Amino acid sequence: MVRPKTEEEIALMRENGLLVSRTLAEVGKIVAPGVSTLELNRVAETFIRDNGAIPSFLGYDGFPYALCISVNDVVVHGFPSGYILQEGDIVSVDCGTLYKGYNGDSAYTFPVGEVDAETQKLLDVTKESLYRGIAAAVAGNRTGDIGHAVQTYAESFGFSVVRELIGHGIGRNMHEGPDVPNYGRKGQGARLTDGMTICIEPMINAGLRNVYLAKDGWAVRTSDGRKSAHFELTVVVRKNQPELLSTFDFIEKNVEF
Ligand code: MG
Ligand code: MG
Repeated sequence: MVRPKTEEEIALMRENGLLVSRTLAEVGKIVAPGVSTLELNRVAETFIRDNGAIPSFLGYDGFPYALCISVNDVVVHGFPSGYILQEGDIVSVDCGTLYKGYNGDSAYTFPVGEVDAETQKLLDVTKESLYRGIAAAVAGNRTGDIGHAVQTYAESFGFSVVRELIGHGIGRNMHEGPDVPNYGRKGQGARLTDGMTICIEPMINAGLRNVYLAKDGWAVRTSDGRKSAHFELTVVVRKNQPELLSTFDFIEKNVEF
């Protein structure tokens, strides 16, 4: 049984959601051809610490960086590196913060310079699939309603949903119950109740849904080598309409793509 958060806890998580959202925007400001992914990591870690928080991914199960940075066919959990971003790449940036005892977790996939039309479609559809999932995060629904909304939307464009990684509850721990898959059937899965805090995070592939674990033991890559996008927001389940704890507004209102 997943315990809903108190309003006091949600207030702390709201602060945290703001911080993680602003961190992603700071990263977005410098995404461009010629920039290394380690530089993105450096900017984020500095910003998080300057704001009195801790980058929660650093050391999580031994993960060695503040951000997961996943370029092109890397779905999630990529290491920041000396790789220099190229025009036409996409770069998924996943960020976690620990602040006043609670966790924030959000991700955004940025285009690097100009991307081709199909890649832009993948970004647009993945983000919209997240919003479709969020709309289903109301009390009385089940996690399968969220997954169904994400899956049917993404697949209607011929894209595919990664099954091996899923969304999750969040709070004092970054990963709590319930599981929130990006696929599923209406009316199945855990029941959602008012005050539950969850991360919805579709990982959508341009081609086949199959993925494999890279030799570094972390990066998850598409088996067909085609691109994958990842967008994640943290929300509170409410009775009529979910409440967003994190937002892409800082990215999309401050950065010109
Ligand atoms: Mg995340
Ligand atoms: Mg997450």
